[in-house]
Amino acid sequence: MQGLMQDWPLLVHTVLDHARTYHGDREIVSRTVEGPIHRYTYTDLDARSRKLASAMAKRGLKLGDVVGTMAWNGYRHMEIWYGLMSLGSVVHTLNPRLFAEQLVYIINHAEDQLIFVDLTFVPVLEAIQDKLPAVRGYVIMTDREHMPETSLRNPICYEDLIDEGDHMEWPRFDENTACGMCYTSGTTGNPKGVVYSHRSNVLHSLMTVAGDALAIDNRQTIMPVVPMFHANAWSMTFSCPMSGAKMVMPGGKMDGESIYELLDTEKVYMTAAVPTVWLMLLQYLESTGKKLPHLTRVVIGGSACPPSMIEAFERDYDVEVVHAWGMTEMSPLGSLGVLRGGMENRSEAEQFAAKCKQGRPPYGVEMKITDDDGNEMPRDGESFGHLLVRGPCISQSYLKGEGGRIVDDGNWFDTGDVSTLDADGFMQITDRSKDVIKSGGEWISSIDLENIAVGHPEVAEAAVIGVEHPKWDERPLLVIVRRDGSQVSGEEILAFMDGKIAKWWMPDDVAFVDEIPHTATGKIQKLTLREQFKGHRLPTA
Ligand code: AMP
Repeated sequence: MQGLMQDWPLLVHTVLDHARTYHGDREIVSRTVEGPIHRYTYTDLDARSRKLASAMAKRGLKLGDVVGTMAWNGYRHMEIWYGLMSLGSVVHTLNPRLFAEQLVYIINHAEDQLIFVDLTFVPVLEAIQDKLPAVRGYVIMTDREHMPETSLRNPICYEDLIDEGDHMEWPRFDENTACGMCYTSGTTGNPKGVVYSHRSNVLHSLMTVAGDALAIDNRQTIMPVVPMFHANAWSMTFSCPMSGAKMVMPGGKMDGESIYELLDTEKVYMTAAVPTVWLMLLQYLESTGKKLPHLTRVVIGGSACPPSMIEAFERDYDVEVVHAWGMTEMSPLGSLGVLRGGMENRSEAEQFAAKCKQGRPPYGVEMKITDDDGNEMPRDGESFGHLLVRGPCISQSYLKGEGGRIVDDGNWFDTGDVSTLDADGFMQITDRSKDVIKSGGEWISSIDLENIAVGHPEVAEAAVIGVEHPKWDERPLLVIVRRDGSQVSGEEILAFMDGKIAKWWMPDDVAFVDEIPHTATGKIQKLTLREQFKGHRLPTA
């Protein structure tokens, strides 16, 4: 027997329809590239998204056409998402921090027809446009008054485009139609295109607004600092309108002072970003003595959140930290460190240890860990293995079949991460499988060592890499950036780490550098570090 419910396709415009109808007066506040703070409501977002879609349809944009965006988090970027996705086009977010050659490859590979660009990034595209023959034009996301002198081919002023549009009724099509695209910055080979569907974005948003996940509701004010060009701003561009939360968009200013200003003036309840952003905010708070009276929760992910950061937020500022993990291929959220009912009766140390892990999957994400031969490993919190995931918002292949088959016969996708799973369902990442240090046949977690080292008050940033060793194959080398003015020695840092880890995990050497290289999404670039320290002679070798 078939169920007798309606066929109501999960299209992303339904999210905005709901926001307009039931939360129409809730605000979206944006720090603009032009300078001033801009405010409007979900009703305005809906109206302008329709005008934009109508203008683009008149200019010939149709179902399946790919359009690039190189933009900060802001209201115009939201309009492009909702307007063009609802029209049936595919919005391809470009990470402006990528190298020029990578951008050229990605834009050509995705076959972007048009690129919407914030004023900040006009020079980035001017420099590469000669290598982008298929791009027909560039829409500059500003008004007439602020249009720059530009060498870009066929520049169009965004506000002129809005003026060209009328009201548009959204077309209906299959919910499995593509609506978004984001390339992963994989460490080997060319970047690969992850393609989201209307269905996967709506489902992912439903999964992540839930109480044990982001727990967003219409009374809250949410500030996604994590960029829309990095994996859907962790779903908040959909889950905020879906739940009616007020949104605060920080634009291009992510330094401690600018972030603090918005948290304070807009009374932000919850915010989310990678650890480096929070490092800047914590340093700003420390140097000014300011507090965070309105902020209740901060979601931290993208790379491992050091326990010292969780402690600082919770102890010094009374802000709950939710440690989250995910991947571009997972839409992106895969797990969140929200404690289970009953855990409040455990000791503070046990609760803290659980919060430091990357957390539990929401409904819609299945997880398991396996050994090198694919055998499932126990969920005992100790055994670590390859982390595999599956679910309706997880990639089954990359654009144009690049990279071949990426799931096994059971539809499991290998995340490339190594982790433990415990009896409470908490997952803890120990490493990227390529970064784990193989010493005498055993694995050492570089993330664990980094987390402990950054807990030292004079350490600004730490990275651990495996360096060749004649007896043990590899041994850990600790690379440190000191805090400004510090002269802390390697011995002092190792003494600080002593007793916090197994003796055989202790780094064999400490090297000091002025800067640790980062990828375009803010992760430590271990490949570059390993090249930099290739041939480094350990004192134990
Ligand atoms: P991306 O697709 O750029 O978001 O990168 C995904 C990768 O980032 C994951 O496979 C992890 O290696 C890493 N990652 C994300 N969140 C965390 C976290 N909370 N702790 C450790 N690694 C993380």
